[in-house]
Parts: sequence; C-alpha cells; structure tokens
Amino acid sequence: MKLFFASHNENKIREISAMLPANMMLKSLKDLSLTEEIVENGLTLEENALLKARFLHAHIHHASFADDSGLEVEVLNGRPGVYSARYAGPEKNDAANSRKLLRELEGKNNRSAVFKTVIAFVDGQQEFLFSGEVRGNIALTPRGTNGFGYDPHFFLPDLNLTAAQLAPEQKNRISHRGQALAKLLHKLERLAL
Ligand code: IMP
Repeated sequence: MKLFFASHNENKIREISAMLPANMMLKSLKDLSLTEEIVENGLTLEENALLKARFLHAHIHHASFADDSGLEVEVLNGRPGVYSARYAGPEKNDAANSRKLLRELEGKNNRSAVFKTVIAFVDGQQEFLFSGEVRGNIALTPRGTNGFGYDPHFFLPDLNLTAAQLAPEQKNRISHRGQALAKLLHKLERLAL
C-alpha cells in the first residue's frame, strides 16, 4: 500500500518511512515530482496540516496525509509554535531558528517546552486529525547530532538526553511525530476492515 505524504522535508520523510510497516511505502511530493511550495498560512498546526494534505489530495485524487509540527515554549507564551519553521525569518533556517531560541531564553529559569505534531489525513470524503506531544526543557547548550531542527535543544528529563542524542528508533518510539503517526496507522488499519 502506498501512503502519500504532502512534504518535501527529507527529515520527516526519513523518520516516517522508518516507522511504517513493511507493507506500506511512503510517496512524498518529490516522488510525485510536485515541486510547488505549499503556502502554510494557517494559524494553527491543525490548519497547516489540513491545508497540506488537501493540497496533495487535490492534485492526485488519492488519500493523502501531512504533518505540521511546532515547539511551544512556556515562558515565550507558546512561541514559536506554529511559526517554528520561520521563527528567525522566511528562509526557514534551522541554525538561525536555534540561535534565536537561545537568545530569547537568555537569563530565563523556566525552560519548559512541548513539541507537538498534528497529522491530517484526507481521502476526499473524510478528514481526520491525529496529534502527539512530548514535554521537555530547552537545554542551556545544544547537544547531540541525530535528528534535526530543534532536536539538539530539546532536553528530555526522564532520559537525561536531548532528542538529538537519541538513536533514530528511540526518538521515533517516543516522539510527537511517532505518537501522531501511530494513531494514523491505527486508523488506517480500522478503515481497511
Ligand atoms: P514544519 O512542521 O515543517 O512547519 O516544521 C516546524 C519546525 O520545527 C521546523 O523548523 C522543523 O525543522 C522543526 N521540527 C519539526 N519536527 C521536528 C522534530 O521532530 N525535531 C526537531 N525539530 C523539528
């Protein structure tokens, strides 16, 4: 079975591919030669996930899904949140986003944060949303080389490691994206009955 994923993000594609059962194959925008940038102008993760999934469904007329993720930092009133990718500017630069995050948290004691993913699934008749979240703290200094984006900054107190210090399978088992994807896969199993 093919699962159509409305993303160009190689990191998300890699993570999600690794979590799929052997009978499912991920097809991303690149596989479909859809190079168009999807304008993510929603005000919530839910809206952005839905608009990406609807975009792909409208192009291929096949059930499609999308992931929108964001980091909500308590002392920043939930920022960068839905704007996590463009936190430091429209060029979506991970290094610049990370620098801005550390700058905004300078001198702050409360470094609590939550990473959220919303997955939207659209099949032309029905639309479903699935969410996952992980709580942690923004580390004083980045650590680890695995993962992507904000992972080196996202410290998981129970594991005493940042998300970038986890092996890929370990991150997928506990991550916001892993949780949301598990819910989607569960739903797909039930829809197939
Ligand atoms: P978007 O879901 O593509 O809008 O990504 C939101 C922002 O969060 C981007 O800057 C990503 O690099 C970052 N991001 C998304 N997922 C993760 C993750 O699992 N770990 C760390 N950063 C992530």
